[in-house]
Amino acid sequence: MLDWGTGEQPPPPERCDVAVVGAGIVGLSVARAFVERDPGAGVAVIEREPRLAAHQTSHNSGVVHAGIYYRPGSLKARLCVLGARELRAYCERRDIALREVGKAIVALDAAELSGLAELEARARRNGVPGIRRIDAAELRELEPEVRGIAALHSPHTAVIDFAAVAHAYAADVEGAGGSVTLGCAVEKVVGTGGEVVIHHARGQTVAGHAIVCAGAWAGRLAPRPGRDTPRPVYFRGAYQQLRPQRTDLVNGLVYPVPDATLPFLGMHFTRTAGDRVIVGPTALMVGAPDAYRLGRIAPADVRKTLAWPGTWRMARRWWRTGLRELAMATSRRAFLADARRYVPALGDGDLVPAGAGVRAQPLARDGSLVDDFQLSVQGRVLHVVSAPSPAATSSLPLGSLIADRAQCALGLGGPPGRSQARVRE
Ligand SMILES: Cc1cc2nc3c(=O)[nH]c(=O)nc-3n(C[C@H](O)[C@H](O)[C@H](O)COP(=O)(O)OP(=O)(O)OC[C@H]3O[C@@H](n4cnc5c(N)ncnc54)[C@H](O)[C@@H]3O)c2cc1C
Repeated sequence: MLDWGTGEQPPPPERCDVAVVGAGIVGLSVARAFVERDPGAGVAVIEREPRLAAHQTSHNSGVVHAGIYYRPGSLKARLCVLGARELRAYCERRDIALREVGKAIVALDAAELSGLAELEARARRNGVPGIRRIDAAELRELEPEVRGIAALHSPHTAVIDFAAVAHAYAADVEGAGGSVTLGCAVEKVVGTGGEVVIHHARGQTVAGHAIVCAGAWAGRLAPRPGRDTPRPVYFRGAYQQLRPQRTDLVNGLVYPVPDATLPFLGMHFTRTAGDRVIVGPTALMVGAPDAYRLGRIAPADVRKTLAWPGTWRMARRWWRTGLRELAMATSRRAFLADARRYVPALGDGDLVPAGAGVRAQPLARDGSLVDDFQLSVQGRVLHVVSAPSPAATSSLPLGSLIADRAQCALGLGGPPGRSQARVRE
């Protein structure tokens, strides 16, 4: 059994059928889908960091989304509803805690009611179970300290530790004969006729096919983008948490009515799987995929972002939102004031910093933010170009879908996957 996270590991195999770059929840789910459908397949996962799930998978809200927000028919909508169902069953089998704490999306005033109605219609079209409109009195029963005139209640929205799920996927991969190598950065992925050569920190692995699931670093291993290919930009999402004596202010999940033109859900209160209450994330555009500290800047990324016309078009359109996010990221008072709009009883000393995550978001040339999962196939390599939220919730059917796509597009053998029948493009 591999000792994930400690000790020296053997290098990745010199040859394998399928190489997966990245041991976040998406890469591990893809690897799991391959070994599940063909236990004899030689699958090798290669991860740069010395531990599993080191980036987005362990720096998020930990919410198993029910599928409310997403455009009906989109991959996000289909894979989220299916993913939440499959994850629930998986966690039961693997004894991983998944707590249905329920979510209220709260309208603060009459101006937000049309947004709430639009979300309700989407949720119904997406097949979200148990969704229900509630009035102010019912909201008070669920969440006595939360202010609002109405809400959309999703009783089955749950919380989980996605890093624990990623560890379970890795155990499945290894248990079926695959390998997971940590601390081994992939430098480049080169398709050469009948095979792919993965150049990494411990030498080379020659694979029949490769799936690149590098999260926020997807662009680094992708082929040169075309003139109009959307470019990744990075949004830092900072959290605060309620101090332990004040966690009774919120019972479950409390979300705002989001701006429908942006792919972010807005700052929310989350009672986590570990029973903390976190508040966030903010959404400040930053200059590096690992900007966990506010001051972290990668000059090459900043240069690329500034050179991209989409950046300036987005800035012209969203400068007010940008300034507001800057205030929230740099001023505890601004953050508290925003949180207080939902929980007025929050006091000055009730919030303490609780880390941050970084989302990679493809930005189109026209300044619009691309809002769905994005895959691209180049020769024998499939790139997961973008897997934003709710990719962690959707990880099981997303992994199956990617394995299906690879089997079709890359000409891989083996039986068609489960998702092919159920998720049609
Ligand atoms: C603030 C925030 C809140 C979120 N909240 C939620 C939520 O509540 N619910 C939900 O479903 N989703 C949520 N998400 C989204 C979710 O976390 C991501 O969609 C998901 O974790 C993506 O998984 P991944 O495997 O693609 O990326 P990651 O987890 O980032 O994994 C990518 C891996 O690739 C590795 N890698 C990169 N480059 C290389 C290389 N050159 N060589 C080898 N390895 C490499 C990285 O080290 C990393 O381990 C949130 C995201 C953020 C940032």
